[in-house]
Amino acid sequence: MHNVTIGNVEVTPLLDTPVLMNPQTFLPGHGDELLAEFGHLADERGLLPMAISCYVLRSAGKTILVDSGLGNRKRPGFPRGHLDESLREAGIDRAEIEIVLNTHMHIDHVGWNTVDREDGSREVFFPNARFVFQQHEWEYWMQPEFLAQPGNAHLNECVVPLKDTGRVELVSHEKPVDEHITFIPTPGHTPGHVAIGIMSAGERAVIIGDASHYPVQLAHPDWSPSADTDPIQSAKTRDRLFDWAIEEGRMWIAGHWEHPGIGRLVRLDGKRVFRAL
Ligand SMILES: [Zn+2]
Repeated sequence: MHNVTIGNVEVTPLLDTPVLMNPQTFLPGHGDELLAEFGHLADERGLLPMAISCYVLRSAGKTILVDSGLGNRKRPGFPRGHLDESLREAGIDRAEIEIVLNTHMHIDHVGWNTVDREDGSREVFFPNARFVFQQHEWEYWMQPEFLAQPGNAHLNECVVPLKDTGRVELVSHEKPVDEHITFIPTPGHTPGHVAIGIMSAGERAVIIGDASHYPVQLAHPDWSPSADTDPIQSAKTRDRLFDWAIEEGRMWIAGHWEHPGIGRLVRLDGKRVFRAL
């Protein structure tokens, strides 16, 4: 996949890893419905293709990474991420990344913030980056009871250590990243979840984070995945974001839709449809 441009902003899609989604566990209560209606999209085991994609933006003279994938640690139930190789193939040195934006703090969005070396030491993977988090998201996940949960080891590995580097910036969604890039509050998947808006020279895009995980949600925005903190709120957010992107003519950039997850949402015969680029 080649780069796309939105006005003066260049977007490079980078695959961390493809993944296969089991709708029975991922969309609890809707797995059978999904396979009945969209079974043609599934493989012979009933699994659907998804991705964990990250995006590098060149905007206003800066190089910005949106989400940092799974990372290179071996974790039960997760494949290893390959963002390091994807960066290399795209000719981007990790030292070039000046800003990392994490749409939220789940394991598949903060993974490459740090890496563990063979000697046991831990290193920030992007040596020249500052890490911009939503204050609300930070405060939610930094609660001691969350940090103590084994399922949240990634917070202690990939988020907490950044604090000591002095390169964490906590912001409100109202603060723009630069003249082209803004945060769009999209709560529900997590409390402080944000999408990333791009607007430049009359062109517009949105990088949606985990506001939607799969295109079947265009017809069924209420099919909220098990990972959503607030499945009622996330369904409302998802439904509104789809319509808003269509009305605004925003290029749609979805890191969990099949890589590269870039295209346009259109309305056809009253139905929302994704047209991949
Ligand atoms: Zn995710």
